[in-house]
Amino acid sequence: MHRLVFRLPEMDEQPAPIVIVVLGPPGAGKGTQSSLLANLLRIPHISIGNLLRWHARDESEVGVRLRGMMALGQLVPDTLVLDVLATRISEPDCTRGLILDGFPRTLKQAELLARGLLKSPFYANNLGENLVALHLRVQQDTIVGRLSGRRICSRCSATYHLESQPPRVTGECDFDGSALTVREDDRNATVLKRLHIYQQETAPILSHYAEKASLLEIDGEQPQENIAQELFMALQSMLRVSMVGAKSARNVQSTLDDNL
Ligand code: ADP
Repeated sequence: MHRLVFRLPEMDEQPAPIVIVVLGPPGAGKGTQSSLLANLLRIPHISIGNLLRWHARDESEVGVRLRGMMALGQLVPDTLVLDVLATRISEPDCTRGLILDGFPRTLKQAELLARGLLKSPFYANNLGENLVALHLRVQQDTIVGRLSGRRICSRCSATYHLESQPPRVTGECDFDGSALTVREDDRNATVLKRLHIYQQETAPILSHYAEKASLLEIDGEQPQENIAQELFMALQSMLRVSMVGAKSARNVQSTLDDNL
């Protein structure tokens, strides 16, 4: 069951690009649900973690610093995060809206987003205006189990789980056959550090969005397919105006069947 607090758009309001912010602790399923939603709504899934990991492969000074911070589970400085994000949201696939997975991660980043500091040619200053925050709620025990079995593709970053979502061929990505690896920051001590940072820095954002009446709470312990269905249905009724171009409800099941 979800708790829904949102102001429905008036009928005569202009459809503005929608920004969906996906919140939840590490291992909540943000990446999986974001990419399913992106497919259903036909807007891009922007994972800040994946963008940063991509930059961290670089042998430059920035790349080496990034690798170090991320392996320890520390947050990366805002200037760098904003830079990477601003470049990505200026790409043409972002005109109708976007799904932000991993941003904002602190109250300060939420304020930067609300104040329009994240600029794009498509949004002028209103990136924070038509915003819905989704919170995937999960217990700490579930998180530790999920992260210890998580494997990612070394090339395309597709995510798997040894038990709940294994690849077709052991150790190989279904999409490109590349080797699956353990994320450096999914090792035990770093997971605890990331959970601590989540509680300290990211959890306060939930009340920030609840006060602004744009928070959708979802039980992230359910099977992936149920979460995706619930999210899509709730968003569809909340955001009728912005979802022109999204897949129709009757196509949702077939998309989920193809992707899960
Ligand atoms: P998860 O949500 O599972 O912890 P992500 O892939 O979203 O993982 O993020 C991995 C790492 O990237 C974080 O631990 C942090 O080092 C960095 N990072 C991601 N998003 C941000 C952000 N908004 N601000 C600062 N650092 C970030």
